[in-house]
Amino acid sequence: MNNQASMQVKLIDFAAAPLEKLYAAFRTCYSSETPIETWEKIKAGKISRETIREFIGERLKTGHSSPLEQVVFWFAIANVSRSLSHQFVRHRVGISFEQQSQRYVKFKQDRLAFVMPESWKRAGLDEDFAGLLDRTSELYARALKAGIPAEDARFVLPNAAPTNFHVMVNFAEMLHICDVRLCVRAQWEIRRMVAMMRAEMKRAIPEIAVFLQPKCGENRMGYCDESLDDWGKCPLGRVRPHKSQLFQLYEQYGSRKAEVLGEAEFRAVEEKELL
Ligand SMILES: Cc1cc2nc3c(=O)[nH]c(=O)nc-3n(C[C@H](O)[C@H](O)[C@H](O)COP(=O)(O)OP(=O)(O)OC[C@H]3O[C@@H](n4cnc5c(N)ncnc54)[C@H](O)[C@@H]3O)c2cc1C
Repeated sequence: MNNQASMQVKLIDFAAAPLEKLYAAFRTCYSSETPIETWEKIKAGKISRETIREFIGERLKTGHSSPLEQVVFWFAIANVSRSLSHQFVRHRVGISFEQQSQRYVKFKQDRLAFVMPESWKRAGLDEDFAGLLDRTSELYARALKAGIPAEDARFVLPNAAPTNFHVMVNFAEMLHICDVRLCVRAQWEIRRMVAMMRAEMKRAIPEIAVFLQPKCGENRMGYCDESLDDWGKCPLGRVRPHKSQLFQLYEQYGSRKAEVLGEAEFRAVEEKELL
């Protein structure tokens, strides 16, 4: 069973000076100085890295997210399953994929590589899994030999077939992907891949990677909004609250009560100059 594919994830590149770009993009919105003046200050070293980091950190606590789209990363990803790839390509905003084609690539190994979940091994069915894959490999090779084009021969390939990606993703989307795919509600394989993407970014740009967390992380939403049942089973449930608990505390200790929004509240939003 040595034809099991092993996942690889590499941060290939990122747009230069990501922290400075975030700083200047946010600053442009909140400053009377022009972005040209801001960049002149950055380049002259008049704004410390600490100031840049703190400013970005404060902005990331707000819902102002479009400046995050101005920072971009490139990843090379290999040997993930077609099950994972189907989940991954559902992300459609702020991310661009190139994926290895089963139409143009003819897989020529005697035994095709595959990704096998640990659960098959735990169930003692790994030999059966590998046996089916061997028979699939043999049929696929026979199909190619018989002149069936690769794009049609691939119809016998399973979800376990490995695939490769070249991906460009901006910071806003990377945060969103971590929100939902580092959450234990996501499947183990995509969770592992996104964790490896985060680890790569942590090595290269730790100041940015610190914000890459599941949505319950202290640098993200901060609490779990999944079902109470899922929260109860999650290992992070020990250190992150569920939203129902926050409401209980609000009810118990808050100076106001959480009420259903009525017409009076909508009128208040409509009429009052709040800001
Ligand atoms: C735990 C889990 C279980 C899932 N189960 C299923 C399932 O059973 N079946 C299934 O089909 N899919 C499932 N999905 C996939 C899910 O429905 C999304 O397709 C996937 O997570 C992509 O995310 P996104 O829609 O936020 O797209 P992204 O492109 O990542 O979205 C980025 C941001 O843009 C917003 N956005 C994107 N497109 C639009 C738009 N057209 N209009 C307005 N806002 C937009 C998103 O809301 C998000 O805030 C699951 C995902 C997870 C994490």
